[in-house]
Parts: sequence; structure tokens; C-alpha cells
Amino acid sequence: MLAYTYIEKGKFEMRQKPKPALLDERDAIVRVTLSSICTSDLHIKHGSVPRAVPGITVGHEMVGIVEETGSRVSTVKPGGRVTVNVETFCGECFFCRHGYVNNCTDPDGGWALGCRIDGGQAEYVRVPHADQGLNRIPANVSDEQALFVGDILATGYWAARIADITADDTVLIIGAGPTGLCALACVLLKKPKRIIVCEASAERVDFVRRHYPGVQTIGPAECRNYVNEHSDHGGADVVLEVAGGKDTFRLAWECARPNATVVIVALYDEPQILPLPDMYGKNLTFKTGGVDGCDCAEILRLIAEGAIDTTPLITHRFPLSRIEEAYRLFEEKRDGVIKIAISF
Ligand SMILES: [Zn+2]
Ligand SMILES: [Zn+2]
Repeated sequence: MLAYTYIEKGKFEMRQKPKPALLDERDAIVRVTLSSICTSDLHIKHGSVPRAVPGITVGHEMVGIVEETGSRVSTVKPGGRVTVNVETFCGECFFCRHGYVNNCTDPDGGWALGCRIDGGQAEYVRVPHADQGLNRIPANVSDEQALFVGDILATGYWAARIADITADDTVLIIGAGPTGLCALACVLLKKPKRIIVCEASAERVDFVRRHYPGVQTIGPAECRNYVNEHSDHGGADVVLEVAGGKDTFRLAWECARPNATVVIVALYDEPQILPLPDMYGKNLTFKTGGVDGCDCAEILRLIAEGAIDTTPLITHRFPLSRIEEAYRLFEEKRDGVIKIAISF
């Protein structure tokens, strides 16, 4: 089969590999029908994910059809359409039982697919702990509608959930990239009083205005003053930092009102400074980290109901044979690209 492969720092290449086989009775083999490219794939390419293993097939955002299941897999059957979770988790350890599946202690736990084990920019993928990692796609939900459920949409949903948003809140979302837009879609479900999106790219601001007309937008330079003037208590009640830019961590806590919650979803290239003397008395609550992707069934239910629709994020479509071209477009952020669907 064809598999897009991490060769070494700076180099991905299409390779021929044998079709994966079941290695454990809890595994499933999924025939990939649609896959996507994530910024994390670029992080691997640029060598900023040290645990990524050269030789592995990349890709961790995909949907497909179950081809084969191990004897202990009970929630999915061959022939079923499924989303694949970016995180592998056992469902049994301390962290899994508390919903902190990102910290699953299983050897395959956490982000393994397309990083430490072969992922989904390939015709087939082996998914460990398939009962946890696969979710059935409802009949009225298309592959494109379900494509982001296991990764960026799970992240947006998790971020909105842990932010504890109320109806009186002004929510500031910093960054309208793919994950920021997924977070926005999920924050909208909480119906806060106001949502402000801070984004530097005029193209992306325009995207937000077209698709989410009730949402206010502002550039980074004016953000602090704008939020101050357009909130009830001198700052946002909740801030979601989804940009991961050079100054966006600072912007996030500066735009927060005293006693606000600041959720850091972004993955930074460099360490960030937490200037505690400057924020003394502001009494902020920071929530940080990587998605606990354990709400995929609920997200699929919301998509089936029409409450979430991330298909506008798919701005480009390429077949697997042209994935090189798709990567270049995505990496160079050309032609208003937000997300690319890779078809098989
Ligand atoms: Zn990702
Ligand atoms: Zn676990």
C-alpha cells in the first residue's frame, strides 16, 4: 500500500509498505477513506517532535471503514464507518478512568498514531485499543463532516468544556487557525454573551466574519484595548489561547479580567514566560495542555444534529497521489488554505 512516511528531519516521502496486520486482540485495521494534514505533521517534519520515529507513516486525522478487528474488539465491526482518535488510550488506567486520556499510561497511550506508530496518510492503518480509539459515524454524517472529530474538533470541544463558560461570559479566542475555528464552533454551543476572535491574518478574519456573523473580530495590536472596552469587567471572563505565536501567551493573560480562566490550547515552539509579579493579584486560573479526546461520540451526535459543522474549514481537496503538493500548499498557507482533505 502507499504510505506517506517520515524519513528524517525535513523529509517526508511516499513509500510502498505492506498492509498492516492485527498485532493485538484489541487492534482494528481501518481502510482510510479520507485523511487530513495537521500542523502537528509539520512539527514532525521540522524535527520539533523528538518522540516521532523516523520511518513511520504520518497522519493522525482520518476517517475510514473498519476492515478487520481483533477478538477483544466489541464496539465496532468490519464494514462500519468510523472516526479515528488521534489519542490511543486503554480506558482502564487511572488517567483514562478520570477522563484524562491524553495521559494514558499504556505503552501506546497518548499521541502514538502518525508519531510513534504508523498513522493514517496511508491506505490502511492499524489502530490499537480500537474500542476506545474508534467511533461509529452516524449514517447521516458524511466523511467530510466527521474528518476532524478525532483531533482538532476534539481539541476545540475539550477546550470549550474545560473553560467552564457561562451565559454571562465574554470569551476571547486567540487564533482563528483550524483548531481556533473548531474551538469557536464549540464555544458557540455554550451560548456565551459575547465571543471575540483575535486573529492577525485578514484572510482568516474574513473567514470568521463570513461563517460566524455574530462573532466579533480584532487584530492582535488592538486586542487588549478592544476586549477591555467590549467586556463587562475590564477583560475577558474566559480566554482560549489557540495561536501559539510569539506574543500570544502574554496577550492571553493580559486580556483576561481578574479571576478569569485562561485555557492554553496552543503548542509553542519556545518556552513561555509566566511573569508572576506582573500578574500578582489578578488571581487567574490557567488550564494547559493537550486534548483529552474522550468526547468523540458526543461530538458526532452534535454533528448529526446539525449543531456543529466544520466542513467550511475544508478549503482544498487532493488525492493521496498529490499529497506532496497538498503539504506545500498547507505549509506555505497559500490560497486561503485552512484544511485539506486527502482522498483515497
Ligand atoms: Zn493534529
Ligand atoms: Zn489508559
